[in-house]
Amino acid sequence: MPESVPMTQRTRRLAGDHAVLGFVALVTVLACLVTVEVAQLELAAPNSAVNWWAFALFALLLLVAESRPVFWLRFGEGGEITPGWAFGFALLLLGSPLGAMVCMAAATLISDSIGHKSIEKVTFNVAQVTLALGLGALVLAGFGLSGPMLANGDISFTSSLGMIVAGVVVLVTNCILLFAVMAISRGVSLMVPAREGWLTSISADGALLAVAPIFVVAVEYSLLLLPLLCVTSFIVFSSARQAMRQAHAASHDQLTQLLNRASFVQNLERLLANDDGTAEPTTLLLIDLDGFKEVNDRLGHQTGDGLLQAFAERLERIIPSTAIAARLGGDEFAVALRRDESVDQLVMASDLLTRLSATMPVHGFPMSVGMSIGMAFAPEHGRTAEELLGCADIAMYRAKRCHTGVETYAAVGASRELGRLGLLGDLSAAIELEQLTVGYQPVVRIDSGRTESVEALLRWEHPTFGDIPPGEFIALAEHTELIGPLTSFILDRAVRDITLLERSDLSLAVNVSARNLQDRHFPDFVLSTLEAHGLAPQRLEIEITESAIANEPERSRFAIDTLRESGVRVAIDDFGTGYSSFSSLRDLSVDRLKIDRSFIAKMASGPKDVILVRSIINLAGYLGLETVAEGIEDDATLGILTELGCEFAQGFLISKPMRIAQLRTWMAETSPAFPAVRLQPEPIFTS
Ligand code: C2E
Ligand code: MG
Ligand code: MG
Repeated sequence: MPESVPMTQRTRRLAGDHAVLGFVALVTVLACLVTVEVAQLELAAPNSAVNWWAFALFALLLLVAESRPVFWLRFGEGGEITPGWAFGFALLLLGSPLGAMVCMAAATLISDSIGHKSIEKVTFNVAQVTLALGLGALVLAGFGLSGPMLANGDISFTSSLGMIVAGVVVLVTNCILLFAVMAISRGVSLMVPAREGWLTSISADGALLAVAPIFVVAVEYSLLLLPLLCVTSFIVFSSARQAMRQAHAASHDQLTQLLNRASFVQNLERLLANDDGTAEPTTLLLIDLDGFKEVNDRLGHQTGDGLLQAFAERLERIIPSTAIAARLGGDEFAVALRRDESVDQLVMASDLLTRLSATMPVHGFPMSVGMSIGMAFAPEHGRTAEELLGCADIAMYRAKRCHTGVETYAAVGASRELGRLGLLGDLSAAIELEQLTVGYQPVVRIDSGRTESVEALLRWEHPTFGDIPPGEFIALAEHTELIGPLTSFILDRAVRDITLLERSDLSLAVNVSARNLQDRHFPDFVLSTLEAHGLAPQRLEIEITESAIANEPERSRFAIDTLRESGVRVAIDDFGTGYSSFSSLRDLSVDRLKIDRSFIAKMASGPKDVILVRSIINLAGYLGLETVAEGIEDDATLGILTELGCEFAQGFLISKPMRIAQLRTWMAETSPAFPAVRLQPEPIFTS
């Protein structure tokens, strides 16, 4: 039908609030009044010259066109273009306004019923077309036009003018009613939907109305012209439809059919715009899915796409009808809505998170996805779309890092944190500005207490924000080319430092990322660094995580095998936390397993963790691999590990990571062995 506005925004079901219902009722009453007026006029002076054959033909065409709107075009629930107006207006011009209005109303009713639209929407649509067509009929009556358009093969000036004015009245009435209901439903001024939709309305509905007189004249002249005209009209309409499709594609995300980033920003700017130049109270939610990459990697892109689609559908369904939603890219979504001061926004966002994370069917399988939501408010945190997006991004990043689910920018802003982009920008300069340093954490052999190696851990001393832990910036750098220079820096610095220490048998462990392993030149780079500083490859160990290997295992394997063949040792870091612990052991040749801190930390209090750690140690023993326990913080834990036969220990109990100068002193003081391991702990776990 004539709802051609929502090109830039998919309107949902008309909100059933009182204002909308009141407006629907008003339009319905007006439509009834106009119908009565038209009926009185027609009954007072019935038109004997109506071409009922043509009337029946157009009525049939109208029904066909309206009952198959999908054949034409739909813009979400709120907007679809059908050629109905061409036939509806043609019926009016044929000389039976009441008949035309009844046919148009009936066709709309049938079309909307087929589309399972809500009662208020069907009522509004029927009243809207009836009122628009009725006013057109009154205009025609005003011009005294009630007969055939052609008089002796000609169209009179009055007829032409009457048709044009009637067409304009129908078009304008239709548009105003539609813009008004959208404005009331979204709680914005009439100008907002008008600005969005006027072009579409004029180009689509206007063109259709303009075709109607040609249809009428053609049938009056000769019915044989009608098929020709239908073909021509179809071609014109198809190209209009194609143009609209392209316009829709340019502003929407193809996968989810939500708005894309560019049009979301435009819509957000409109939402923020206030007549007096101040920003409207608005809430922006930035939603980033957790672990989506894993879904893509493990279950395939088809499932990943299915998950995004199901998520977008649910998002659209549960947000208020006045909100706008978009997929900004990848697994990042945004929702903007006018702020209701009586609603606690944090509660609203937490509720949204709970509902969004509930299980949903993806290709027939139940799946659920976690997410982190960052929230920013206008005008408090920003007055433009970009400012708000930046703030929400910072909040979202914090929610992700701290696993809190939802964060608001207000809370984050107080601690003066950087957003992801800001952090990356500063990080790229950090190496040159010498803000990056290396901390060394000793790894001791449990039975002798001797320090066998040190793990190099990156440290960033930010001039404004102080020490930023690697967990905060490495995950970001891993998504960019920056991880290359970072690894080069730490490798070069740590290899140099280790050669300056007195102990020539001390090994060095360096963490590397998946992206490093996928670089074909990485093994060469490592070996040439070792050569440049004169460190034997056997004294270097690279630590890789299971998830790093899961990503492109073939390429990772090439790097790992090349390095091992040259004598470099390889350890699987954070063992037990990835998804593929067993397959990584089967597929890769490694030397060590570093048992993740999360298991070690809870050993003293949790028998389950003791059982798991014992199993990992036994498994490593069968495979001929060494075991390192990470994150030992107390004697009790060290005691259990000693008993379980773990070979190496690392953790704050032994030492926190230290600068190279501190390490030198520490080694001198604890030489030849770390005293804590000489303790003979009481057995805590037996059998
Ligand atoms: P990781 O490789 O598992 O390093 C061990 C982390 O545990 C270090 O955190 C260390 O300070 C911390 N840790 C050690 N013992 C204890 C303990 O007893 N208690 C507690 N609570 N923590 C302990 P850090 O330095 O914050 O590093 C975090 C992670 O960042 C590292 O985990 C590693 O995955 C990554 N990372 C650090 N430096 C680099 C680097 O140069 N390159 C790469 N790719 N990743 C790095
Ligand atoms: Mg490590
Ligand atoms: Mg680790």
